[in-house]
Amino acid sequence: MITMITAEDMLTIAYEEAQLGLAEGGIPIGAALFDSDGNLLGRGHNRRVQAGDPSLHAETDAFRNAGRRRDYRDTIMVTTLSPCWYCSGLVRQFGIGTVLVGEARTFQGGHEWLAAHGVSITVLDNQKCVAMMTKFIAERPELWNEDIGVPE
Ligand SMILES: [Zn+2]
Repeated sequence: MITMITAEDMLTIAYEEAQLGLAEGGIPIGAALFDSDGNLLGRGHNRRVQAGDPSLHAETDAFRNAGRRRDYRDTIMVTTLSPCWYCSGLVRQFGIGTVLVGEARTFQGGHEWLAAHGVSITVLDNQKCVAMMTKFIAERPELWNEDIGVPE
C-alpha cells in the first residue's frame, strides 16, 4: 500500500534522475526504489556513457544505491521507462513486488512478462516521460540503439 506518497510523486524522483543523466551527457532513464511506506531506499540513473559501463542501467543503479536488504517483496521500483529484459530479470531475481513504469510507448521491455509472473505492474503513461525519450531517440539514435542492443 502506498500511503505517504503517490505513484506520481515516486515517478518525479525517477524523472529527476533521468534529467540528471541527460545533463551529464547520458541516456535519460531514471529509477528509484521505495519501501511500502513510501520511504526512498535508493535512486539512480542510466550511466552507460558517464561510467563507460553498459550494465549501469537506471534500475540497477537505484537498486545498488539502496544497499542490502533481506526481502524485496514489499518494495516498489519506479522507472521512467519500461524495464529492459536485464532489469526485468533483476526485478524477478530479487522478488521486487511492485513496478511503476513511467511510460512504455517508446520502448517495451519485460513489464508484461513480470505481470504474468505475479509482479504488480502499473504503467503510468506519463507524458513528460514520453516527451523526454521521444526527443532523446530523435537526437541521439546511435546512443539509443547501443543501449537497447540494436545492431548497426
Ligand atoms: Zn535495463
